[in-house]
Formats: sequence, structure tokens, C-alpha cells
Amino acid sequence: MIVMKFGGSSVESAAAIERVARIVKARVERNPVVVVSAMGKTTNRLLALAGLAAEGKQSAALDEMEQLQAFHRKEASAILLAEDQENLDQLLETHFTELSHMVAEIAEVESFSPQMIDAVSAMGERLSSQIVALAFRYFGMAAAHVDSRQVIVTDTRHTHAAPLFHRTYERLQATVAPLAEKNVVVMGGFISSTVNGVTTTLGRGGSDYTASIVGAGIGAEEIQIWTDVDGMLTCDPRIVPGGHLIKTISFAEAAELAYFGAKVLHPATVLPAIDKNIPVLVLNSRRPEVSGTRIIKDPPHCRNAVKSIACKKNVTIVKIQSLRMLGAHGFLRRIFEVFDRFQTPVDMVTTSEVTVSLTIDNARHLNEISGELRRIAEVEVETNRAIVCAVGDNIRGTPGIGGRIFHALGGINVLMVSQGSSQLNFSFVIAEDDLVRAVDGLHQEFFSERDPEVFA
Ligand code: ASP
Ligand code: MG
Repeated sequence: MIVMKFGGSSVESAAAIERVARIVKARVERNPVVVVSAMGKTTNRLLALAGLAAEGKQSAALDEMEQLQAFHRKEASAILLAEDQENLDQLLETHFTELSHMVAEIAEVESFSPQMIDAVSAMGERLSSQIVALAFRYFGMAAAHVDSRQVIVTDTRHTHAAPLFHRTYERLQATVAPLAEKNVVVMGGFISSTVNGVTTTLGRGGSDYTASIVGAGIGAEEIQIWTDVDGMLTCDPRIVPGGHLIKTISFAEAAELAYFGAKVLHPATVLPAIDKNIPVLVLNSRRPEVSGTRIIKDPPHCRNAVKSIACKKNVTIVKIQSLRMLGAHGFLRRIFEVFDRFQTPVDMVTTSEVTVSLTIDNARHLNEISGELRRIAEVEVETNRAIVCAVGDNIRGTPGIGGRIFHALGGINVLMVSQGSSQLNFSFVIAEDDLVRAVDGLHQEFFSERDPEVFA
């Protein structure tokens, strides 16, 4: 058995679903369980229409609902057997009637609870999964639909519910695994329910998580996440083109990279699979022939020291200096408390005896933060900075990497350096204007020769 997950853009239209069907059909002898997101931007549209209802604009909400229904009808009806057209009508009728009741309820109380948000947003995957199951029949597969809410059991934290793994795995084993022996099982991602059967969701983008949970639950041999990129690359294509595809990467390396826009998936979402030693593949549904990136717990040794160079623009450095820090304790706590109060994540930190430099990415509360900090220290702010980060398991324990990095930078001024915490990344901060030159130099230094086992 394998799990194949397709995101919203992979099922956004009749043509996209046809591509999915072809990809799945080519792998049908591996007993695929298919997990799909809502079609295109459906989740956003559902939440927007619920928002309209909550503002008392019920007729605008109903208009938007009509359009959403028409969109589903148009795309789905093009890829259905004649005998299933009626099933589609019924499907749309039931779901949109249910949705209109929710809209009416929201409009009446002029607000919507987290429980209602889940009920509304779950409609996207409830519809897409049934439509894809019907379409698979049209494309000649024996497809069986499973309502994820019957098998993925969660706690009651609506809009970001946590799975109850034991129960969920039990149900997956009892229902999905046997069904997958003779059918292509299709399930909606993202949606789940409490022990009492109340609809919950796993949080935005939660379909990857569903795929990983299902894979772990049924003991799949592999989990495939089908996206619209070829996989993870040796450098960010938006900064420097010509990066190479990374064929295998460790979970820890993928997690380090995820922070930097190289985010083809959120690492936390693949943890259930990695825990069970199930490989997670990232593949491109527009170019299924590309081998993609395989994320595993312990990949084979790589001859290259670095696996990828990631970077992030729009970084702000906050430099905090105070003689009171000398020999004092509790000073760092006071600094971080300020960032905590303004809900601003701190990314990189370096300290000397009397200064702390740190970077933030979200500068929304920068003025308030510096104002608070100035009561206890001198504060300097530098904007338009970039973090560059070399990632690779081998950075740990290979002498001379720092030397090679600084040499490759060819005189670019480095403002902060951090290495050691995870040992598989070496990060530094430079001016944004130097970014392209820096990434290009590093890429040449570390990837002119490549281990053919690891890079395509
Ligand atoms: N449809 C959900 C969302 O848009 C889940 C997903 O696509 O993964 O967040
Ligand atoms: Mg998505």
C-alpha cells in the first residue's frame, strides 16, 4: 500500500483531476490510498462566505455559495460516467443545503464559533474527495470513498485538532487497509472528528498531515506528497536558478530547510510517518516522471558536506546592548519576554557579554518592541537583511566548512553567524543586496561536484 496526497491545485479542475487519475492509475498495483485537499481555493472561499454571513451579509454569502456550487458542478460533471451524473446532483444538493443552513445560523448569531468554522471548512474536502472518487470510476478505476471523519479521531480543539493516534490507527487498520486491497480508496485530507462524531479539522494545510497519519496507520510502504514543484533543490530557485534536485534527505535536514521558504511541506506534518520509518516522497503532479525528493529518517552517507543552501529575505536584526548584562542573570529572559509579549518569533540569536543580536522576520511590532527594550538597554535596528543557511548532516563533524563558506563569500560582510545548535546547519546574516552573490558563490563552492546517489 502507498498513500498519495494531492493538494488543492492538483484537483482544482477537471483537467487537473484527470492528471491525478492518470498518475494514480499508473500506480494502481501498489494499492494506493489517495488523500485529496479541497478543490483549488475552496477552503478560503468557504471561510470568506462564512465571514460575510457573520457580518450580516447573508445574501452575499449565498451568492458566493451559489458560485462555489456552480464551480464544483462544472468541473466535476466533465469527468463523470453518465450513470454518476445523478449521484453528483445529489451530492451537491445535500452538501450545499447543509451549508446554507450553516450560513443561516451564522447570520442569525452574527458570529461563528471554532466548531462552526470546522463544519464550514470541512465542506471543501467532503466534496472534493467524493468527486475525485466518482471521477476515478470514469477513468476506469475501482474507487471507494471513505469519509475521513469516520476514521481520523481527534481531540476537541476545533480548527487545529490533534489526532488521537491510538484510536485513529485502530480505525484505519480496521477499515481503510482491507478496503485498499481491492479498491483505490479516496479520502479527504484536513477533516476529522471528535470521539463523539463532531467535525474537526487538523489546521490549515492539514492534508499533508492526514496523508502521514493514514500512511502510519495502515503501515504504508511509502507516502507520496504530490505538489507543483519537483522536490527540494540545492538552492532556492527564486534567488539563484540552476539548483539541483535533492533525491534523498533526512527528516532533520528537511525540517531545517522548511523554515526557509523551501517549504514544500511542514515537517511536523510528516512526523507520524517518519516515526514509523515510512519514507515520504515529494513529487510534481505536472511532471510525474521526475523522481522527486525522498525524506527518510536515516539517509545513506552523502559525499557532499552540504545538501542545500536556503535563505530568507526581509530579515530585521535587533541589537541589544547593556552594561547591566555584564555578569548579570535573568537579562536574556527579560529580553525574550518582550518578544513573547508581542508574539514575535525570534529566529537567530548571538550573544557576547554585553550585547545580544537577534533576528526577526515579522517586524509588525518592531516599534513597540524596541520601545520596551530601550527601558533596559540600548537598541539598534537594521532592516533589509537576509539569512543564508547551509544545511547538511555532514556539517557536523566535517572540519573546514566554516572556512570554505567564508572563502566562497569572497569578502561579503557577514553580520551575524550561528552554528552549533543543530550542528547540521551553518547560518549567517548579510545585507539583502549581497544575497544573490552569496548564494551563487556558496552554490558553486559546494555543488560543482555532486554525489550521484543523493543529487539528480
Ligand atoms: N484545504 C485545507 C486548506 O486549504 C487543507 C489543505 O489544503 O491541506 O488549508
Ligand atoms: Mg495545501
